[in-house]
Amino acid sequence: QRYVYRFGGGVSDGGKGDRNLLGGKGANLAEMASIDLPVPPGFTISTAMCTRYYEEGERFPDSLKAEVAEGIAHIERITGKTFGDAADPLLVSVRSGARVSMPGMMDTVLNLGLNDATVEGLAATSGDERFAWDSYRRFIQMYSDVVLELDHGAFEEALEIAKEDRGYTLDTELSAADWRELVAEYKGVVEKEWGKPFPQDVHDQLWGAVGAVFGSWQSERAKVYRRLNHIPGDWGTAVNVQAMVFGNMGDTSATGVAFTRDPAKGDRAYYGEFLINAQGEDVVAGIRTPQYLTKAAREEAGAKPLSMEEALPEVYTELAAVFDTLETHYRDMQDIEFTVERGKLWMLQTRSGKRTAKAALKIAVEMASEGLITREEAIARVDPQALDQLLHPTLDPNAPRDVLTKGLPASPGAASGLVVFDADTAERMAADGKAVILVRTETSPEDIHGMHAAKGILTARGGMTSHAAVVARGMGRPCVSGAGSLAISAKDKVLRVGGREVREGETLTIDGATGEVMVGEVATIQPELAGDFGTLMEWADGVRRLKVRANAETPLDCRTARDFGAEGVGLCRTEHMFFDAARITAVRQMILAEDEAGRRAALEKLLPEQRADFTSIFEVMAGLPVTVRLLDPPLHEFLPHEENEFAEVGRATGLSVEQLKRRAAELHEFNPMLGHRGCRLGVTYPEIYEMQARAIFEAAIDVAEKSGEAPIPEVMIPLVGTKRELELMKTVVDTAAKAVFAERGRTVDYLVGTMIELPRAALRAGEIAEAGEFFSFGTNDLTQTTLGVSRDDASRFLGAYVEKGIYARDPFVSLDVEGVGELVEIAAERGRKTRPGIKLGICGEHGGDPASIAFCEQVGLDYVSASPYRVPIARLAAAQAAL
Ligand code: ADP
Ligand code: MG
Ligand code: MG
Repeated sequence: QRYVYRFGGGVSDGGKGDRNLLGGKGANLAEMASIDLPVPPGFTISTAMCTRYYEEGERFPDSLKAEVAEGIAHIERITGKTFGDAADPLLVSVRSGARVSMPGMMDTVLNLGLNDATVEGLAATSGDERFAWDSYRRFIQMYSDVVLELDHGAFEEALEIAKEDRGYTLDTELSAADWRELVAEYKGVVEKEWGKPFPQDVHDQLWGAVGAVFGSWQSERAKVYRRLNHIPGDWGTAVNVQAMVFGNMGDTSATGVAFTRDPAKGDRAYYGEFLINAQGEDVVAGIRTPQYLTKAAREEAGAKPLSMEEALPEVYTELAAVFDTLETHYRDMQDIEFTVERGKLWMLQTRSGKRTAKAALKIAVEMASEGLITREEAIARVDPQALDQLLHPTLDPNAPRDVLTKGLPASPGAASGLVVFDADTAERMAADGKAVILVRTETSPEDIHGMHAAKGILTARGGMTSHAAVVARGMGRPCVSGAGSLAISAKDKVLRVGGREVREGETLTIDGATGEVMVGEVATIQPELAGDFGTLMEWADGVRRLKVRANAETPLDCRTARDFGAEGVGLCRTEHMFFDAARITAVRQMILAEDEAGRRAALEKLLPEQRADFTSIFEVMAGLPVTVRLLDPPLHEFLPHEENEFAEVGRATGLSVEQLKRRAAELHEFNPMLGHRGCRLGVTYPEIYEMQARAIFEAAIDVAEKSGEAPIPEVMIPLVGTKRELELMKTVVDTAAKAVFAERGRTVDYLVGTMIELPRAALRAGEIAEAGEFFSFGTNDLTQTTLGVSRDDASRFLGAYVEKGIYARDPFVSLDVEGVGELVEIAAERGRKTRPGIKLGICGEHGGDPASIAFCEQVGLDYVSASPYRVPIARLAAAQAAL
């Protein structure tokens, strides 16, 4: 088996289709080389080697030596330089690269191949002694940090002292001789901290770095990232070894990162940052403030330092042409890294660019309009989950705001929360249900868990392509980066700006769309649903088969749902209506009544209230189906607790507090979720369901009479396990309907059906379908009853279950397709056999989860029902499932 794949100089052993084997970076380097873009030559050691490395106890097979030697020889042939040659040395970078870009992997090592002899050769061939020694000290520092894992503080300290001794303030003031002296000191630091001298053999250097890349695959950082992003541990990473090019060879050299379109807004404009006379990660690290790529961007920002378009116009033109080539070739927005060495452009990376939801929408719609991609591709390209960012409120432009400072608008959306200064605190406070804003000088991969836990991220340093900005955009967290006026002391848990102070636990609001940072909480407004969003949704609606409904139980929820495109209500729960302060006493009176007469007296008081609930919902949903679930929870949930609550019920019923307390004690259950609830309430107290059915039909007729358009009530009986239960309850509902229709001299269409939420119901669906006209899969309870896992208590152990791979995802978030899914399939099939065309839907939390929606499409359900804010997500996911 082969493990090494070459690229550059007219050779490409791989291409963009090989990302599983070569990692994203390696596959795209080979692809760029194959379309004749200027790529420094190199080779990729495949991800298969990483897997084998771990299988064989973290050792390389002997055969790899020869393959790597052949790879080095390839680079030597193209560059005309020799690895380790004291006269004209080849230097390389060693770069990790998994299938998907993964913070947490080993940082890149640049300038590998320098030692006490080759540094002299580099000085001679470049004609720049200072550059050579600066490169060497960078190499020692990087290699010590990422490969030898020594504390980098000692190196920084040595540099600071060297500058102080010489009266310098900037690194640029150090001369060749200064750097040479510093290299000697750095080597001393290595020997002291590592116990061995800095490796002088360039092959030792190379193998050390390669081993470190593979080793970093199992680092804690990488594991955390994989867990958060559902990346399997057996994918492995590739290693890329590539000839160095230098962006730090003077004023005609530069390095930068760019996007072919604006990754925040989606505008069709080149977008990026660069630094003259700089190397590698200087741009991303936020050490120097980068310059704009285009003149237009510089002018818009009112910035002084020249843009690349102005400073290096010829290379800029060449670069812009490469952008166009790449975008046409990949048919997607690209995120690019490049370096200019003495006026010559080199491409170092390209990949599909991360973008905000807003940009993803705009780019997809525009690319389809430009004819670069099809409408189907446009639909497929937008992550439904990411729409969430767009559907939530943004800051009210008219609300008063106390602006503390301004940074870069790094990731859009607004967030308010309590200030915290470290990731662990962010995670802890978020776990306690607090909204937090993570404030850091700059972020690093170690902060990922805190960024995930935070509602928003604020940094003092770093540009639009800094770690904080890129990661926040990927996670959909609002982020303001590079708020340079902030002085942050994580140790003292305080930030200072312009004479003001904000301490841990105080509230800040950030606006990731403008970069503003405000003290206190700022009012928000609803999102704009027209424009690109509307266009893409229209396209999605054109291809999807599944209907999308909402779980909604108030007129406001129904309104939101309709505005978001819901085609009905899939689940209107009725229990919350019973908790209303004005009627809870009547509810309690009903529950605590000693007999049917007592219950009926109380229900009599509830009927007009319940009718009003349904009227207000039906008014919003006129013309559409509304599935109303009759009372479901265990009655004891409504019981009085306080002395005065019992007294109040006593006054309403004429019963003594003692009698009421005795009755309440009788209602106690050991396992209420499997107790006296669902249709068992209707079986034992049919008058409750009778009242609810009456309220539904009276309300439907009221609305039909008033607006001329009737809703289509679908009366849903919960927790049915047998046909007989459903038959009995259907009779109660039909009888109420008949009575109301006779009284009013008018009818409305309606259905009676059931929620399938018990395994028995799924298995006996064939006969249950004889009694019921629709099934709605209540997958919250169905998951609970199938897995035997209490959803209210699962948080104690589900994390460990997901971590240990017992469940790939939390089964209450994403449907357990294998188990619960099989029951859904069985029920659908058996139900259809009895009653062809029986209406089938899903109304659990899963109705808004794209993976679960794909399953619903596969089983051929008629609709999914999701919470109002997830309706657009479901529409798009349903379209993608249908493609
Ligand atoms: P990351 O995956 O963190 O972006 P990269 O492997 O892309 O890491 O390396 C980071 C940076 O190092 C690149 O953007 C580039 O500027 C620099 N770099 C990597 N390889 C080379 C090289 N062969 N020549 C010059 N610079 C390089
Ligand atoms: Mg990179
Ligand atoms: Mg249920």
